[in-house]
Amino acid sequence: MLDSYANIDRRYLPQIADRRVSSDGTRKYVLQLHDGALVETVGIPHGNASDPRRLTVCFSTQSGCAMGCAFCATGKLGLTRNLEPAEMVWQVALVGSNFGHRADSAIAMGQGEPLANYAALVESLGFMNGAQGFGIDKRDLVVSTCGIPNGIRAFAEDGVPATLAVSLHAARQELRDKLMPGVRAFPLARLRSELARYNEVSGKRVIIQYLMLDGINDQDEDFEAIEQFCRGLDAHVSLLRFNRADGIPFAPSAFGRMLVWSAELNQHGIPASINKPRGADVDAACGQLASQLNQAG
Ligand code: SF4
Repeated sequence: MLDSYANIDRRYLPQIADRRVSSDGTRKYVLQLHDGALVETVGIPHGNASDPRRLTVCFSTQSGCAMGCAFCATGKLGLTRNLEPAEMVWQVALVGSNFGHRADSAIAMGQGEPLANYAALVESLGFMNGAQGFGIDKRDLVVSTCGIPNGIRAFAEDGVPATLAVSLHAARQELRDKLMPGVRAFPLARLRSELARYNEVSGKRVIIQYLMLDGINDQDEDFEAIEQFCRGLDAHVSLLRFNRADGIPFAPSAFGRMLVWSAELNQHGIPASINKPRGADVDAACGQLASQLNQAG
């Protein structure tokens, strides 16, 4: 049980196997766990990179991932194993130590589907939020899921101290099934009703993440589908720019297209913004570095 620093098992402290620093100050790490499994962790400084005002850590919840998303390098690795709560906490502590700045926010958006490792995730978030742990405000803890309905229900009912973000990436069923085969069993209609329930039970807004892929999910029919999906939900749409990756046959949508989508969603009464990409020059998209190390090893 993680309830104080003294209880974080030192055996789970990872080693830095590789670190790359982006021109924007973002640091991407490949960490080696005690049994040799690899994970990726990203440190994103805000303000001056060598003396940041704030530091966000994007941490992994699994080594590899079973979800097989078509746009993700980790999806090609497959799942190695679930992470222990201490292995999640150590990622955040290690990156903070490397920057010489405590993490102000932490996002479960590295390798893995967080809700597929639910109990360990919740324990780690409790520590990150707790006064005996990192003391990170619950509004600054975010969990990004592909959208596993039972997990979303538990997340709301358990009052997990974090904000829920859902990777939508397509609001047309046929396209989503191709892009995100790991959630094929959970149709969009079920996901939507679970998110409405999440709004009701938690009283919180959900973040809808949408990675815009040129000519794939950024057509007029896709806009209509996402507008329809979000209508009536308490949701904020975060449009994400794709980082190109070797072996992944997609390209980012034109920035103008993203601007138009953002403006039009807002006009339709759906809050939306464009998420500025960080660390694109160091393969900061999920799975890109670990897969290079795996290929080299
Ligand atoms: S995007 Fe996330 S859920 Fe999908 S394969 Fe990659 S790590 Fe897994």
